Amino acid sequence: MPHRFRTLFQYTADAVCLADADGAIVEVNPAATVRFGLTADGTAHLRDLLADPAEWATVADDLLRGEDVVARTVHVRASTGEPELAALTCVQMRTGLGGQIQAIVHRGDHPALDALDELYDEQTGLPNREAFVAQLTRALSGRPGRAVHQIAVIHVDLNRFQRINETLGHETGDTVLSMTAQRLDACIRPGDVVARARGDDFLVLLNGVSGETEVVRVAERIARALTGGYGVAGHEVFCGSDVGVALGEPGTATPEGMLRAAEAAMSRARHSGRVQVFRPEMHTETISALRLDAELRYAIERDEFRVFYQPIVGLEDGRVHGFEALVRWQHPERGLVPPAEFIPVAEETGLILPIGGWVLEQAARQLRDWQARYPAHSIAMGINLSVRQFRPSLVDQVRAVLDRSGVDAAGLKLEVTESVVMGNAQDTISVLHDLKALGVKLQVDDFGTGYSSLSYLHQLPLDILKIDRSFIVAMALGNKHMSIVRAIIALANTLGLETTAEGVDEVAQAQQLREMGATYGQGYLWSRPVPADQAEALITSPPRIG
Ligand code: C2E
Ligand code: MG
Ligand code: MG
Repeated sequence: MPHRFRTLFQYTADAVCLADADGAIVEVNPAATVRFGLTADGTAHLRDLLADPAEWATVADDLLRGEDVVARTVHVRASTGEPELAALTCVQMRTGLGGQIQAIVHRGDHPALDALDELYDEQTGLPNREAFVAQLTRALSGRPGRAVHQIAVIHVDLNRFQRINETLGHETGDTVLSMTAQRLDACIRPGDVVARARGDDFLVLLNGVSGETEVVRVAERIARALTGGYGVAGHEVFCGSDVGVALGEPGTATPEGMLRAAEAAMSRARHSGRVQVFRPEMHTETISALRLDAELRYAIERDEFRVFYQPIVGLEDGRVHGFEALVRWQHPERGLVPPAEFIPVAEETGLILPIGGWVLEQAARQLRDWQARYPAHSIAMGINLSVRQFRPSLVDQVRAVLDRSGVDAAGLKLEVTESVVMGNAQDTISVLHDLKALGVKLQVDDFGTGYSSLSYLHQLPLDILKIDRSFIVAMALGNKHMSIVRAIIALANTLGLETTAEGVDEVAQAQQLREMGATYGQGYLWSRPVPADQAEALITSPPRIG
């Protein structure tokens, strides 16, 4: 159903039911739920609206005879128990396979209908969390009507919404929310529900799915739909999302349990770029986020961090021109923990400062070592800096590291994300200039995932754009996506910047990127991030591909 009609459908105080050609109800609006306690689980029938099922037979006869619109005054079933007279309009639509019947019971006096307004989010016209919980509760209490019948909750959290609000204003933020509502709406089927939970969190209820594969397919469609840019007030805004999924069986799962599970899966998805399906261990993991903080503090003292190195390969010559330093946590019980699982917590608590400082020191020393032993290769080192590290003292810190390690400054390539660069704060810009004055190089990480005013880029002292992996992945989707990558590379070249394509994992991508004029590639195609000794071997015998 197109969004503009859906809003109408949701808001009207008339009870509206959509049914298949046989009269089995496939979708109901909130008014119908309030009035008749109906759900669209495939078990309710239009005849259930009426106090006397025989009365339905006369309506059905007219529909069978091919009348498009049948309007009647009928006795409807009412929550008071007494049959009520009401106007019923049935509209026969022969659009899709087998057609559909739309039944509207016109508003009578029903006290509960006045409360309907409270079930909506004003901004997006979507049901709010409360209304969602009510729908979920009904879906879970429904008799399993279909042979394969599970309920899924999808929790969607917009990535960069807060930032959009802060930098582009609340009006733009509101527009992004409304557009998100529309995009979500376009991803679901009749009978499913999209709601706005709070802030930039949305919930989706899939009312009847066959299993995990089906839900993941829908969730991925949602994630893709939210990746594309939003054109708002002359800006191209990119949001992105974290998506978590929980599945439950009617009769056993509880609404609160499913909501918590979907949220835990969503937190797990954070920064991973993948849809996550809830697993019971995730709860313990969420709880242990608190313990994580305490453990991270120990990890520094106990020297549990490791730096892995992923080669950066010249697309023209196939040689290793440098590495990106990527931190890992060698946890005594959990094994090697990837950064996505602890960096966000470290950023929140400020522990990223000592961790980031340690990585900087470590990677610089490694670079110095390689520069000394392989002088002919002019090896460089990319080092990630989190937003939190970005303050004036960073300049002194980097200067001290350069002095101590004796590394050639030009080989140090500091990576900052687009949001840092585009934050436009005057002190950020002066930190960038001060760093540049030390002789180090600056690169923009994950380029294209923020919302850049491109014209702004050339005012900054940048050297390299790292094109985000999502653009490289999308190249396989067709010409339009290829053109975007080509345009980014062309723009970078015009601004005198080098480019690194992130997440290259196929030979074809590497070839296309080389033809488009990208400078470097980084990705599993050549190597995953590996410990220093394995990385070193790649300097003299570059990874062979194809
Ligand atoms: P990033 O800076 O964008 O780093 C690239 C990430 O992409 C790495 O994940 C790398 O393993 C992954 N990657 C590279 N090639 C491929 C590919 O072909 N396919 C796929 N699917 N992935 C690929 P990793 O090491 O898990 O790091 C994730 C993120 O954690 C980094 O993203 C960076 O933002 C952050 N991070 C890592 N180390 C540090 C650090 O020392 N300090 C800070 N502040 N952040 C760090
Ligand atoms: Mg990076
Ligand atoms: Mg990156």
